[in-house]
Amino acid sequence: MDVIKTALVTGGNKGLGFEMARQLAGRGYKVWIGSRDRQRGEAAAAQLAAVGDVAVIELDVTNAASVAAAARGLAAETDHLDVLINNAGIVSPNDGKPSETAVDAIKSIFETNLFGVLQVTQAFLPLVRKSLSGRIVVVSSGMGSLSRLANPADSINRFGTWGYSASKAAVNALMISLAHELRGTPVTVNAINPGFVATDINDNKGVLTVEQGVRRAIELATMESPPTGGFFNEAGVEPW
Ligand code: NAP
Repeated sequence: MDVIKTALVTGGNKGLGFEMARQLAGRGYKVWIGSRDRQRGEAAAAQLAAVGDVAVIELDVTNAASVAAAARGLAAETDHLDVLINNAGIVSPNDGKPSETAVDAIKSIFETNLFGVLQVTQAFLPLVRKSLSGRIVVVSSGMGSLSRLANPADSINRFGTWGYSASKAAVNALMISLAHELRGTPVTVNAINPGFVATDINDNKGVLTVEQGVRRAIELATMESPPTGGFFNEAGVEPW
């Protein structure tokens, strides 16, 4: 009997996460949409009912009790997790110039984009380790590329949101370190830059479609022998 492939996408109720859930379900994965709001999650899962097997799990990545409850809930439903996509992320309207940004604004970005990823990954890793081919994908950003940030001419500098950049650079460091820790196991860990994709996070000002934005993430989540500890964009390798 074939083992059913399973996947969890945090922040899967809309945007890039929803598209990843849709594509994984279309490939036959049993998918859990992690949603901090149950109703938004249910509405998203209902939209995907015709595509495949999609369920909702209430999951606020910033809330330790919510993360722990979600991990217990998932462990009651499956004995392994093949794909964990750390997708949930935020920007802050109070992010801006380093000389002016309020410390609390930066802390709140880190709560989701770094500490959220850390506590979700720690909570679900035992289930991922039970997969024969665990795949962890972190949705990072080109904004987290320090070499691009260091280049004044790079387009990412026009946004002037250093807090978001710092949170994504930090999550890249987490991802690299986790990949090192898990080397020699079947679990791979990679980060992606989806590109500038039209979603709510940028008031739909992005120039790419969600289908384009998730292409690399889906590839890394589903391919037979992915690399580990890498940072990728649609065209290839994203610079650190
Ligand atoms: P989006 O449409 O705003 O979706 C963000 C998702 O994250 C939503 O489902 C949101 O849930 C969820 N979320 C936020 N805080 C959460 C929390 N504490 N717990 C659980 N879920 C939470 O934006 P998106 O573009 O799809 O963003 C997805 C990821 O891509 C983010 O990590 C973002 O940084 C990254 N990214 C996006 C772009 C781009 O151009 N779009 C570029 C580079 C990187 P609610 O619906 O409840 O708010």
